[in-house]
Amino acid sequence: MKDRKRVEEEIKRLKKQKNAVILAHNYQLPEVQDIADFTGDSLSLSREAAKTQADMIIFCGVHFMAETASIISPDKKVLIPDEKAGCSLADTINAEQLEDWKKENPNAVVVSYVNTTAEVKALSDYCCTSANAVQIINSIPEGKEILFLPDMFLGAYAAKVTGRKIDIWPGECHVHAGIRKQDLDEMQESHPEAEMIIHPECGCTTNLMYQVENGACTENGNGNGNVKFLSTGGMIKHVKESVSKEFIIATETGMLYPLRKANPDKKFHPARENAVCKYMKMITLPKVLQSLEEEIYEVKVPLETALKAKRSIERMLEVTS
Ligand code: SF4
Repeated sequence: MKDRKRVEEEIKRLKKQKNAVILAHNYQLPEVQDIADFTGDSLSLSREAAKTQADMIIFCGVHFMAETASIISPDKKVLIPDEKAGCSLADTINAEQLEDWKKENPNAVVVSYVNTTAEVKALSDYCCTSANAVQIINSIPEGKEILFLPDMFLGAYAAKVTGRKIDIWPGECHVHAGIRKQDLDEMQESHPEAEMIIHPECGCTTNLMYQVENGACTENGNGNGNVKFLSTGGMIKHVKESVSKEFIIATETGMLYPLRKANPDKKFHPARENAVCKYMKMITLPKVLQSLEEEIYEVKVPLETALKAKRSIERMLEVTS
């Protein structure tokens, strides 16, 4: 294998030559985050995809995120360096299953979490993220039936906060369903001075949103509430400004890399060491290079599906803007 420096140089040269941009999710390997033009969560990367003047986007994340970039920017060539980088949560429901569910509930409004395939988004009325699920549900007239998919923790959380009756698809992120209340309690006990920060992106933390809503972690060792839900940008800003010197980060462990990089004087502990998304880690520097060289693997959503899926994303933006 070529050494890392040479691989990085070739990536930079090809990127310039092909007018490409590299977008990397926060859960990517550190060396992939370092070579990227932009890093962030899936929504912020989609916004970058929409803004960029590049002809080609190398999307270092999982497949449904690259699809979303393609839906938003259909004129750009979107490549994912490993086509097997999927998402166990998105895989819990396909278009056929959703069609059957809709047939059983013909009058229901369908709300889909962003971790879904383009085909599932195309069959949905609204797309949502963990940050705006409650707002989307509240915008639906009282008395309307609601189908929520695929994340059962986010669905249960939204039902509890809004007090609405919601039919919920029983999907979860199997990679991180392992972060449980016990982990949070143990971490708070061993680091009583630390702030607990939960990043509400991906199914790995929606179960924590649900648990906190149900009473977990509202007290820390000091007897005060010390749990915050923050987006990537909010997390980096908050950590920088906070007087705290220690933080427990409850999300995929990749998020600790940009935090440590930006705050070398502060300490960060993962809520659970093995909270690692194996799909995110499939993307490596040699694969990024190969993707640029051979222009593989292209992620292209058929036009009809893309237009319908885009509508569900736009409806979400109309409610939340
Ligand atoms: S962390 Fe879970 S929800 Fe997020 S991409 Fe990985 S498998 Fe999917």
